[in-house]
Parts: sequence; C-alpha cells; structure tokens
Amino acid sequence: MSYQTEPHPDRVDFLLSDQRSLAQRIGATRPAIAAVLERALEGRPPSAEEGAELLVLRGDDLSALVATADAIRKEDVGDIVTYVVNRNVNWTNICFVGCKFCAFARLKGHEQAYDHPIEFVLDRIQEGVNRGATEVCMQGGINPEMDSDGYFVLLRAVRDRFPDLHNGPTRCGAR
Ligand code: SF4
Repeated sequence: MSYQTEPHPDRVDFLLSDQRSLAQRIGATRPAIAAVLERALEGRPPSAEEGAELLVLRGDDLSALVATADAIRKEDVGDIVTYVVNRNVNWTNICFVGCKFCAFARLKGHEQAYDHPIEFVLDRIQEGVNRGATEVCMQGGINPEMDSDGYFVLLRAVRDRFPDLHNGPTRCGAR
C-alpha cells in the first residue's frame, strides 16, 4: 500500500501555507478567473454563472479564490471571530420518511427508537444553559403520531421556561 505524501493543491493546509501575496496569486490564475476576483475585490459580486465556475476551481485558481475571499472577509468584518454556544436536542428519532442517506431515523417499535417527553427536552436545554448556551436547536424525525400541534406545544414550553433563549425547531434530525 502506498500513501500520497506530496502536498495536494486543494488541501487546506497547502492553501493556508501559500506564502504568495494576493496579487501574485491572482496573477497566477487564468485571465477569466482573475477578472472575476478583481471585480469581487471592488465590491462587485460574480454572476451566478461565474459563481458556478468558482465552485470547481483547483490549484492556483483555488488558492487565489481563497485569498480573495479572505481579503474581502478581512475588509468586511476584521479579525474578530464570534460564535454562539448552542444546545442541540433531539427529542425523537421516530420518522416514517425513509430518506436513503439517513442514519438517524428509526421506525416506531425499533429498539433504538425514542420519543422523549417535553420535560426531558427542557432538562437537556437547562444543561446547555448551565454551560453558557444562548441558543437551542431542536431536531426530531417526522413522527406521524405526533399531535398536530406538537411543535407548537414544544416551542411554547421552551419559550415559557427559557424566554431569553433563541430557539427554533427543525423537523428533520439530519439537518
Ligand atoms: S429524520 Fe429527516 S433525513 Fe431522516 S428519514 Fe426522517 S426526514 Fe429523512
């Protein structure tokens, strides 16, 4: 068995260690790509077609795109990075939809299926709040036996207990 040891031009560590200036990187791209990047630096975004082209850039072109995006990011927001402490609660994995890619859902009656009561959800959120969470994301499968107002009841209970928390449901546990 052999392993690739040469730096790959698409690897993040390679892109991050590229010491060339932004101008040098743009200068090494194809003219059409350079034109798009230079316009972006002037505040004029790419068209949808140009954006689609940017999605598949590799090598020097990708390095120039990364550097351009970083320059625009720096100009827009500086170097301060912010984040939100979030508690993600899965209240049920029972779902009848059957998406092929899903490793989360279980049919009702499966030994790993669960459908937690609201108090369980509130306790999990409290754990998150105790550790600094300011946002909760509740995710569950699409349980056909859930009451038609089940999401509203859940949201109301969370809102009543944690009025300052930013919250919202997603119906699908895979998101
Ligand atoms: S939980 Fe979401 S992704 Fe999984 S089967 Fe249900 S709808 Fe599909």
